Amino acid sequence: MPHVRSTATERVLIIGGGIVGLTTAHTLRRRGLDVLVLDAGPDRICPSRGNAGQIAPGHPPIPSPAVPPKALHMMLDRRSPLYIPPRPSLPLLLWLLAFRRACERSRYERNMEVLAHLSRISRELFDELEEELGPAATLEATGLADIWRTEAGELEAEAETEWMSRLGFPTEYLDGPELRRRDPAWGPEVRGAVIHGDGMRIDPAILCDVIRAKISSLGGLIRTGCRVETIRRCSGGWEAVMSHGEIVGAGRLVLTAGVWSESLARMMGVSVAMQPAKGYHCMIRLAGAPTIAAVLREPKVGVTPMGSLLRVAGTLELSGFNHRLDPARIRQLMAAARVFLPGIRGAEPVDLWCGLRPCTASGLPVIGRGLEGAWIATGHGMMGVTLATGTAKLIADDMLGEPVPDWAGMLQPR
Ligand SMILES: Cc1cc2nc3c(=O)[nH]c(=O)nc-3n(C[C@H](O)[C@H](O)[C@H](O)COP(=O)(O)OP(=O)(O)OC[C@H]3O[C@@H](n4cnc5c(N)ncnc54)[C@H](O)[C@@H]3O)c2cc1C
Repeated sequence: MPHVRSTATERVLIIGGGIVGLTTAHTLRRRGLDVLVLDAGPDRICPSRGNAGQIAPGHPPIPSPAVPPKALHMMLDRRSPLYIPPRPSLPLLLWLLAFRRACERSRYERNMEVLAHLSRISRELFDELEEELGPAATLEATGLADIWRTEAGELEAEAETEWMSRLGFPTEYLDGPELRRRDPAWGPEVRGAVIHGDGMRIDPAILCDVIRAKISSLGGLIRTGCRVETIRRCSGGWEAVMSHGEIVGAGRLVLTAGVWSESLARMMGVSVAMQPAKGYHCMIRLAGAPTIAAVLREPKVGVTPMGSLLRVAGTLELSGFNHRLDPARIRQLMAAARVFLPGIRGAEPVDLWCGLRPCTASGLPVIGRGLEGAWIATGHGMMGVTLATGTAKLIADDMLGEPVPDWAGMLQPR
């Protein structure tokens, strides 16, 4: 459909229909705005559909004081949870230098506080969303466990938990025997766990589909197979030019294209530096699976019961824009999980997947305004689901002239 033009100045155009774009469209529609979502998908590699399905309020950012001492090992060891294969790339080098700065304790603590504010708002809004969408959305407030097997893991968890308790997030400590009493799936090597009481779990693909259906039932429009190549100002606001030549206009625009946002962001006056961070999952059928979703601390692996299956997810690989699924990474995920959950031995994966997280160097998302009439929300790294509803609220409040909290200034694009 070449060069068809349509405009509607009252409309808000949302570019990207992952979890951030969908929650933004849903929030804006509920608050009375006309929304049109343009999404390049359906895309199996979209991380919003294949993530670990954990809503983890208070979770710290990736860059932390614990990372630099292990950095060299991570760059060279393919089995490391954070793997950075060396490659000649100036953007990667600049990103790594900024990442290094974000690991300084003062920056880490400040960023953790900002994420805590945003995730707290998000968590409250997930309760409202659950009420609105009902059980079909698969939002379950079962809590999340942080589980370790070494003394070093325990010390790291203690320090983080102390911070989270200070910031008001509910936590409960369990030693290994107590954890196994409550949930016999956990093996004898597990030394202890912290239960984060306000954690939730979901099936992320189902959640996206249910929000999508809700937006449509509220009169919002969602179009798939629409890759936006250019955005530009026009007399009534903004227009988007798609790869098939069609042009769609709107009064306002929100860019939520995940890790693919960078070039479009420049067209709205915003510079965002992100690295695609590849993560994997495998789904396994397991008799006697754990009842609670958990993060296995040392290998940084998430395990989440989803329907009759268990999702084992993790690894963060900075190897650029590619969707090569490396079977060795899957084997490594399974081996790491088996140490904590001996029942996994012999279980065959029924589905394998990889996708790209949009990672900023600071670990903070970028949420705020570009040129007049344009907003951006991206860079949510490994917390896009956890922070989605709060992100949508910040965008909607700002667009509708409501006050936004001071801490949100830290998330503004520069
Ligand atoms: C293995 C793994 C586990 C994870 N686990 C968790 C977890 O447990 N909890 C959590 O909170 N987060 C988790 N995450 C992170 C989370 O999945 C991401 O932060 C989140 O999905 C990002 O959402 P998004 O909407 O910003 O981007 P995306 O999901 O990437 O969506 C962007 C959308 O924009 C579309 N698009 C791109 N370019 C264009 C264009 N030019 N025109 C139109 N459309 C376009 C894409 O097709 C896509 O649909 C995990 C990620 C991975 C990989």
